[in-house]
Amino acid sequence: MQLRYGFRLYPNGPQRAALARAFGCARVVFNDALHARETARAAGLPLVTSGELSKRLTAVKKTPERAWLTEVSSVILQQSLRDLDTGYRYFFDSLKGKRPKMGPPRFKSRKDTRQAIRFTANAGWKITLGGKLRLPKVGDVTVKWSRTLPSVPSTLTVIKDSAGRYFASFVVETGPQEVLPTTTPEIGIDLGLGHFAVLSNGTKIDSPRFLRRAEKQLKKAQRSLSRKEKGSANRDKARFRLARAHARVADARREFHHQLSTQLIRENQAIAVEDLAVKGLARTRLAKSVHDAGWSQFVAMLEYKARRYGRTFVRIGRFERTSQVCSACGVKDGPKPLHIRQWTCGACGAVLDRDINAAVNVAQAAGLAVTACGAQVRPERVPAQRDEPGTHPKPRPTTARQTGIALH
Ligand SMILES: [Zn+2]
Repeated sequence: MQLRYGFRLYPNGPQRAALARAFGCARVVFNDALHARETARAAGLPLVTSGELSKRLTAVKKTPERAWLTEVSSVILQQSLRDLDTGYRYFFDSLKGKRPKMGPPRFKSRKDTRQAIRFTANAGWKITLGGKLRLPKVGDVTVKWSRTLPSVPSTLTVIKDSAGRYFASFVVETGPQEVLPTTTPEIGIDLGLGHFAVLSNGTKIDSPRFLRRAEKQLKKAQRSLSRKEKGSANRDKARFRLARAHARVADARREFHHQLSTQLIRENQAIAVEDLAVKGLARTRLAKSVHDAGWSQFVAMLEYKARRYGRTFVRIGRFERTSQVCSACGVKDGPKPLHIRQWTCGACGAVLDRDINAAVNVAQAAGLAVTACGAQVRPERVPAQRDEPGTHPKPRPTTARQTGIALH
């Protein structure tokens, strides 16, 4: 399977200038090709083929107007054309219903928050003996190696994010060689609004403190930006601070997702979650926009880690009405408003916790060996643990920065 490994890069002044040039050239080639295709489409002509685009690129590099394209590695320009192809393929597939709905490729702008260039395996980049990343026509860039690469990477993407940080993202091919010893627990997970996740064994997991703190800083940065006068230097500074706060939240959230998904995969033999697209049907627009980005990242981690460590991962595809069915006796007693956190089943008398009941239903729908007893409220139990039970008792506020993983 393919895995992405991300590391922070620290290019010096001339290297940053060279990278800016490379981002710019990749963007121009992408936009030129997109323009050529769209012009042909508007004129009712057949799609300009990739081969033709590539030929035109070679020709245009010899013209005085575009001669500067030769100042950067030709591989990244070719990759730019391939990215355009991929964009079109996804678009056409989405028209055929093979993928979620999406628009055709769009023109890139120098103001885009994320700039990226891609190198193939044979593009002449390498990791030097001194541990630097040698990029063609850029130089030897300092890398913060937060993890070890398990094998030789196939492709490399260099990214500059909205907070002005640089990253190298390597694609590495790994086998499922790290199969964990078999264990017995099987769980269902309900991704809810009250808690980040609720497990069918009764565990409720909230976002850790370091993530909540980063989110608070983000809100502060947002308020500060809105108070600054338009066009002022202070506004630019505030905008940059906001971008950094955004990046910190994204890092902290990713770190939390990594820790939690690893822990769940280690402790359980099988994990079931509800398909997010299906789950989305049951929620409002607002709730979706706030949570879905985070959930899909988390679920994707669970999925690839399950594959990698030899665990079973099941996604419940059908809309199971997990909150309406009693997990103890299976009787469906209708929808309940969101503020109803627990109820008594009219058929069997079980007192059910809404979220845990949903998680048990997810597990049972996946055919996992989960009993309903976790879903039943036991009166002697300590009420609602607000902190992350058993996940990370000592959250380290600097974790996100330490790992330096900030890739999507
Ligand atoms: Zn019941």
